[in-house]
Parts: sequence; C-alpha cells; structure tokens
Amino acid sequence: RTTPADALVIFGVTGDLVHKMIFPALYAMVKRGVLNVPVVGVAGSKLSLAQLHTRAKDSIKQAGKIDDRDALDHLLSLLKYVGGDYNDLETFKAMKQALGDARRPAHYLAIPPTLFAKVIKALGSSGLADQARVIIEKPFGRDLASARELNRIAQSVFPEDSIFRIDHYLGKEAIMNILYFRFANSFLEPIWNRNHVASVQITLAEDFGVKGRGTFYESAGCLRDVIQNHLFQIVALLAMEPPAYQGFGAVHSEKAKVFQVMRPLQPDDVVRGQYTGYRKEPGVAKDSDVETFCALRLFIDSWRWQGVPWYLRSGKCLAATAAEVLVELKPPPQRLFDDSAPVDGRANYLRFRLSPNSAVALAVRVKRAGKEFVGDQRELYLLNEQPGEEAPYERLLSDAMAGNGALFTSEEAVEAAWVVVDPVLDAHHRAHPYKPDSWGPKQADALIAADGSWHNPRSV
Ligand code: NAP
Repeated sequence: RTTPADALVIFGVTGDLVHKMIFPALYAMVKRGVLNVPVVGVAGSKLSLAQLHTRAKDSIKQAGKIDDRDALDHLLSLLKYVGGDYNDLETFKAMKQALGDARRPAHYLAIPPTLFAKVIKALGSSGLADQARVIIEKPFGRDLASARELNRIAQSVFPEDSIFRIDHYLGKEAIMNILYFRFANSFLEPIWNRNHVASVQITLAEDFGVKGRGTFYESAGCLRDVIQNHLFQIVALLAMEPPAYQGFGAVHSEKAKVFQVMRPLQPDDVVRGQYTGYRKEPGVAKDSDVETFCALRLFIDSWRWQGVPWYLRSGKCLAATAAEVLVELKPPPQRLFDDSAPVDGRANYLRFRLSPNSAVALAVRVKRAGKEFVGDQRELYLLNEQPGEEAPYERLLSDAMAGNGALFTSEEAVEAAWVVVDPVLDAHHRAHPYKPDSWGPKQADALIAADGSWHNPRSV
C-alpha cells in the first residue's frame, strides 16, 4: 500500500499544534515539491477560507520562514476548510464533498486524544476510510487498556499498514542517527553490551514550564507525556539487536522486542517531582500532584543488557533545555597509572547529543605532557548538523502520505511500552517539590547513587 495519498485531511486545523508546527511543515513540503494535493482542514470553528489563509500565513511567519512567495501561494491554493463538530456525521458528509475526486486521503488527527476513537469510527461509517490512511497524534492511549482499545478501534476501520502513529521524536535527525551510528560502524558492536557498558543515562530537559498548556498537562504528566514514548523510543534504538535484514519491518520488530523484555517498573524505580509554582499555572489544580519531572531506573532482561541499569529523566523548568544520552563504559580491568581512576568520576563514555544540536562525542583519556603518567579526559567531538535538514513533521507527514511507515510506532511496540509503565501510572507517593532552574528533586540523585551521578547535559 505505497500508492501516494491524493489528499491530506487535517482534523484540528485551528489548534495549537497545527499553528506551531504543521503549517510551517506544509509550506516546507510545498517548497520541496512533495505536497501538491488538496489539504482539507476540519475543525469546530466557523472560519472562512480567507481566515484560514490568514492563520496559515501567521503561523508560517512566526516560524520565520516566508522566503518563497510562490510556494506560499500554492499552499494557500491547496487549502480548503470544513467547519463542523466531530460528533455530528454531517461534518463528515461535508468533508466528503470537499474531498471531491480524491479517493485515497490521509486523515491526520491533530485533535484532543479523547476524540481519536470517535473520529476514526465516523471515518469508517461515512465511507471515508476505504483506501485511506490515518495519522494519529500522540498520546496513543493513557495506559495499557486505553491503548489496546484504541488499537482495536483503529484496526477495525483501517488495516495496520494504513495506521501511522506519530512519535515526532522519530523524525528527528539526531534520533535517526542513533540507528545509523550503531549499525553503520563496526567498532561499536563488540563493546555494546553488558560486558563493557556500565550504565546508560538519557536526559530530556526543558528550562520552561507548561507554557499555558496546564489543562493538557494535568491530564498527562511527565511519564505519559515524554517518557513512555520519546525516551522509550531512544532506549529501543540504543538497545535493539541488529535488524536481521534491510528494511524497516525488521527495525520495528527488534524495537518491539526491547519493550517486551523491559522489566515492568516498580514504585522504587521511579521518582516524581513537581516544580514550585506549577500549581499557580492556569488550568492547574491548586493541589495538583501531577509530575513535571520524572526519573526512573530501567532494566532490559536480554542476553545483551542483563544487569545494566538504564536511567531516564525528564522535566520542565530544569536548568537547561537539552537532550542527551550518555553510555558509560566500564573502567579498564587494572589500574596501571596513578590517575586511572577517572579524576572527574567518569570512565570512558559515548555521548549522543540529541538537541538542541546533534553531536556525538567519545570521552577518552590522554596523557598530559610531562614525566608523570597522568592524563586528562577529553572528548572526541563531532557536530553532526547539516544544512537543509527536514523538520520532523515535514518528514513524517510526507512519509505517511507516501505510505512509508518506517518512522512510526507499531501496535506491538506501543502496547509493550505501556506494559512497562502501567504498574507505576497510579502515583505511589507524592511528587517531590523542586526549584525551577535546578536539576529536579534530590530524590532523583539517590535513585542513581549506586551507579554514580547524573550527567547534566553540556552546553554543546
Ligand atoms: P488544541 O489546540 O486544543 O486543538 C484542538 C483542535 O481540535 C482544534 O482545531 C479544535 O477546533 C478541534 N476540535 C476539538 N474538539 C472538536 C469537536 N468536537 N469538533 C470539531 N473540532 C474539534 O489541541 P493541540 O494542542 O493542537 O493538540 C492536538 C493534538 O496534538 C493532541 O493529540 C496533542 O496531544 C497533540 N500534540 C500537541 C502538541 C502541542 O504542542 N500542542 C505537541 C505534540 C502533540 P476548534 O477549536 O476550531 O473548535
């Protein structure tokens, strides 16, 4: 089913995500020449087409990118708008009309997750699902039971290869590079296992709060918002076995196996935190216990990773905005030099910088000039940024429209990831308060203490 979609339907075209990310992505797609089909926006507001055009232009301007008038005009000429409630089947009739001759639309659900199932069913009952694809925003479920139910409903209307579950992290160059770096190099494989890796850490830090999206955040929290999806996807790419053949079917299957052998989390594996001031945000309950920070310890019970601790943490209002992976290697077997216990407490490590820039660094020890055999730890550092990189949504929407599911998550993987976090979704203790501009509550330091300390992302 790789026939390209002949229309893109955007449910939620008046929403925040479409304004922030999707219009700029569509504009970039038109510029690249990969979008030339009708784009039908569907949302509740009563908008004229001219008003939708204004929104699209504002959005693209805000992303700072109007440098091709022809592309902009072409994008606007592709846009159509259908106003109506998703609870009303008339909306879907009007949509069908707006689609005209298009027979293979891609329906993108950029809408509140509570409406995913309703819209999917309505697409089915209105005859809008035949030959079509559905692209589903995150979050895919709130727990294992709801993810299973959503999968069941989606698969009752669309075949699995027409369902595209978005985790936009998978469309980031730095994340794709993890897969490439691991399997395009030969030096890594011999050390990429429990014999040489002491621990792995992943930090995804933001130095801002909920940015007015308090109501949304109250229903999510850090574990659901970024850990079960984005951070777990990074773990899967780092931990998976080599795919047995070329092609993304093999990658999907190896990633799902990682989740299947992750040990389900226990309350002692998780530290939840909340920044002071969160409860004063609009839309947040005065006594909210929702976590804006979460740290956890994971184990992957496989031949390769048995006994290696994986530490994950993420939070809002932390001291920096950055995402990094640190794979710490075991020290050499003998101390031959006086300083061979690493001076700064860290052995060799491999660091993947994921954002805001994309880099790979290998920390090694080198001798300091002089008679003594002592040295310093230095990084072999490679900045891997290239001009013309596609933004994640640009890549993901064009892939989905082309029928390429490589960078989307599979039913198997989504459900297996929920199995791991399901036991700790109900808070077992209150979220610990932490000060904005810090690295979270001190309880997170205690969580990792047996294996060292957290690595705070560098400035590069
Ligand atoms: P939002 O700002 O609340 O937008 C919701 C959209 O859905 C609006 O276009 C709204 O239309 C429409 N809508 C809601 N109920 C409707 C109904 N009953 N009938 C017709 N239209 C209805 O939401 P969002 O923040 O853009 O998020 C959309 C999706 O993207 C969610 O799944 C979210 O988890 C995901 N996401 C968002 C972000 C982000 O930064 N915002 C990031 C990643 C993922 P009207 O307002 O015109 O009625």
